[in-house]
Parts: sequence; structure tokens; C-alpha cells
Amino acid sequence: MSYQGDHSLQVKKNFTSRLATALRPKKRGNRLTKTPPGASVQVERKSDVSNRSTVTQNSVVPNRPPGLPAAVNFYNKSTPASNAQTGELWDEAEMLHSLLRRDSQDSLNSLNRVERIRNQIPDSERKPGEDMIASLPATLWQIISSHMTPIDSANLALSSKTLLSLLGTSPFLALNFPKNNAETHWYKIGFLLGMDIFLPDHLLCYPCATYHRRIQKGKERLKARNVLNLIYNCPNPKLQSRHRLTVEYELPFTFVQLVFRAQQYRLEYGLQLETLSRRLKSRESEWFHQTRYFFHKGHLLLRVISKSFAVGGLPPAGLRNFLYSREDYTPYFSVCAHWRDGELMNVCKCALSHVPLPDFSAAHQLRNGQKTNRALIKSRAEFVSLCSNCRPMRRCPDCPTEYLVEMKLEEDRSDSDPVQRFKQCMVVTRWSDLGDGRNPAEGEWAACNGEIAYDSFAHMGRRAIAGVFESQNGFTVPGQGIKSLNPKGERRGEEGHNWY
Ligand SMILES: [Zn+2]
Ligand SMILES: [Zn+2]
Ligand SMILES: [Zn+2]
Repeated sequence: MSYQGDHSLQVKKNFTSRLATALRPKKRGNRLTKTPPGASVQVERKSDVSNRSTVTQNSVVPNRPPGLPAAVNFYNKSTPASNAQTGELWDEAEMLHSLLRRDSQDSLNSLNRVERIRNQIPDSERKPGEDMIASLPATLWQIISSHMTPIDSANLALSSKTLLSLLGTSPFLALNFPKNNAETHWYKIGFLLGMDIFLPDHLLCYPCATYHRRIQKGKERLKARNVLNLIYNCPNPKLQSRHRLTVEYELPFTFVQLVFRAQQYRLEYGLQLETLSRRLKSRESEWFHQTRYFFHKGHLLLRVISKSFAVGGLPPAGLRNFLYSREDYTPYFSVCAHWRDGELMNVCKCALSHVPLPDFSAAHQLRNGQKTNRALIKSRAEFVSLCSNCRPMRRCPDCPTEYLVEMKLEEDRSDSDPVQRFKQCMVVTRWSDLGDGRNPAEGEWAACNGEIAYDSFAHMGRRAIAGVFESQNGFTVPGQGIKSLNPKGERRGEEGHNWY
């Protein structure tokens, strides 16, 4: 049928049908809903066959190119009765949604698409906008580029050959100039980071702002601090950022980059996260450490469990001997850069003060002499409960790090005396957020190293890193309040009196 020829007749019929539709009582529950475009097209086709008097929105649009989905307007009075909004039902949500663009053919994109379909040009052969870009004068592009950040400007010049010829090399030279400006250095790093995906064999060196070739690709392993362990040949090895894990081990930022690259792209770009997790035995003390890492919302979380068998009744000198390395007078267990300020060492000493005196069992006493003292004989396996000062978890206010000090009963397999095997063990667990691995000079990484000011309570709120970390294994950290590690807000470092 030709719609053009019967137009007047249709309009007449259309008017009566509209009147009938308006007067017909609506079925209960037959509310207007947004049906998918395909379904509504089917309804329209059916109604076309059964009732020729219904003129849909489709039929009045002249010269619709073949292949275009039929546009449906729910609010047009001439749509079929089941779809029509006659004003009897007032649905605010639907009215609001009707303000959205629904298959409109007025946008530039839709018009271009109609044009392509009309001329039978497939999407893959769409003409690039190069000519349009080239038609604008170079000076205009340079003005546009001058309003961008140096990183965006360089990325714009790199995006196509046409733009490169229009903008020239000036955006790239700007990243190198002036040479010693710290801000320019970080712009250059930001620009180079965008190339990470193209360079699996290289790694971005932050002090040099250069990609160095990885000299032991895929075989990079964490080694003790005093072992030469080069990831690449760099003229500034001393400027590399690293974080202290224990007395003998550090985590270089290069390893953080490698695990993030492997996670973001493919394994050949870096290292599997599991290769960082280690069990470390201290050579100069009885302390034993276990490190584990975990990705959470684009951040690298770290947990270090440090433990050592503890003896009760130690004098102050004995406590220091137990807790501090004699090499540099730092704790044997893992700490953030702010351990000297606040209560961390006092909490450890308080926990040790709850350990009972060494167990003088009857057998032990008889071995040393004839007489036994009953007052000294205690039960062997005794659980130590800590006080309100040393039991709660502590959060460093200056970096995203949390500490928990515990006393546990553990078996000492090296002890030949079976009676004495179960001993009190001091366990210091530390959880840290090491940041998103993009920049060692800012964010959580720099905060843990004590390089920037950071308010951990404002950043992390009530959710503890410990809770996030342990929930990945299905464990829950016993619910308890988190206390500040430094409630008085002291920032005295080595000058303070609390740390030794
Ligand atoms: Zn370098
Ligand atoms: Zn205590
Ligand atoms: Zn800290």
C-alpha cells in the first residue's frame, strides 16, 4: 500500500481510532513500560497487518533507509493502544526517561551513520578525521595545545602523523626543559608511563626518567639488602626508592612496578605477585619473618608477620637486646618510617612484661640441685592475656600501616627438652597499603617511607587494612577498636624519648 496516496483517508481513520483509544477504559495493571526496540517493532508489524487504520510513527517518516532500526515513540498518540500514553496514566519516571535521546536521528553521529548506510559504506572503511584535522591551521592547533598540560600536549602530538606535523617537536622538547625542574621531571614520567604497555623488555627508571632494559627478565628475585641485585643498568642506583621490610631485607620500588605490570598486562611484563612473598630468617637474631602481598582495588597491600620466642622477666637492657638490631638500632620486626614517634616500642615492652618468669619445673630444679621449690613450679602451657594498652590494634597516623602485638604459645622444635618445648612467642604483625605503584614520590608508598605528610585516619576511615587483607582468606580479625600509634601526635623522630 502506498501511504502517500491514502493519506487523507488514514488521517480520518486515524482520528476515529485515536478517539476510540482515548475513550476505551484501560485495563488494570496494563501500565506503560519500556519495551526493547525489537519487541515493539514486532507489535507494530502485527498491528499493521490486522488493523490498517493504525499508522505508526515509522510509516510517516519518509524515505527510511533500509537496515535502520525502527524508531519508537511511546508518547505519540498514534502508537498502538498497548503502547500509547494517552494521558490517563501519569508515570513520572517514564516522563523523565522520555527526556533522554531515544533513537533520535538528529545527532551528528546518527546522521553520519544514515549517510554511510545509504551509500553502503561499511564501518571499517569509515574515513578517518585526518582531513578535518589538517584543514585547521597549525597555529590554531598550537594554541589548543598550549592550553593543555605538557603530558596531554605531548600525547596529542603523538596521536597521529597529521597532528605531529602540525604541532612539531615542541611538546616533546617542553618535557625536557628546563632540565632540573622537578615538576617537568614528573610531567616526563607521566608521559613515559603511557608507553609501559609497548615495552615489556624495559622498565621505567624514575630517577633517570628513562626506560632501561631489564637484564634478568622474568628471573628478578628479592634478595637481601647487602647482595647486589640489579634489575637494569642504571647510572643512579642510589636514588632508587626502596621500603624497609626487616633489618636485612628491603622492597625496591622496581619490584612493585614489576608486579603491577604483570597484573595489568601480561606475565612477560613483570613478575607474579606470589614471587614477592617470602619466609625470611634473620641471620643475626632469632626473629623469623613471613611476608605476603595482595592486590586490593588497584593498591598493593603488604603483611609482615615477625615472631621470636620471648623470655619473661627481662631487664631493660635485655628487652632492648631482644627488640633492636645492634647494627643500626632499629627493631628486628617490620616497621614503617614513623616507629620512633608514639607508642609502638612501649606497646611491645608492655606485652613482654606480661610473659611469666621462666618455668622452673620440678625436673628442671632437680637437675640443678636436691631441693625443689613448689612456688616456682608453674603450668607449662600458660596463655598470656595482654592488657588494654598492648592488646588493641594500632594504626600509624602518618601512613597507612597497622600493627598488632600478640603473645602466642608455639612449639620450639629446636629445644631437646620435651617439657620445655612450648614457649611464649612474641608475634608482631604489620599491615600496610603500599599504594598504586605509579609514583614512588607520592601516595601511600611515599607515606610509608615517611617522605610526605599523610593523614591515615582521614584517608582510610573505619575500614582497617588488616580487615581487608585477612578477609581475602576468609579470616576475620577479631572486632576491636583501632587505637592511634601516636595519640599525642609527637613528631620528634630520633630526638624523642619513647623509642629506646
Ligand atoms: Zn636509571
Ligand atoms: Zn600490656
Ligand atoms: Zn607510619
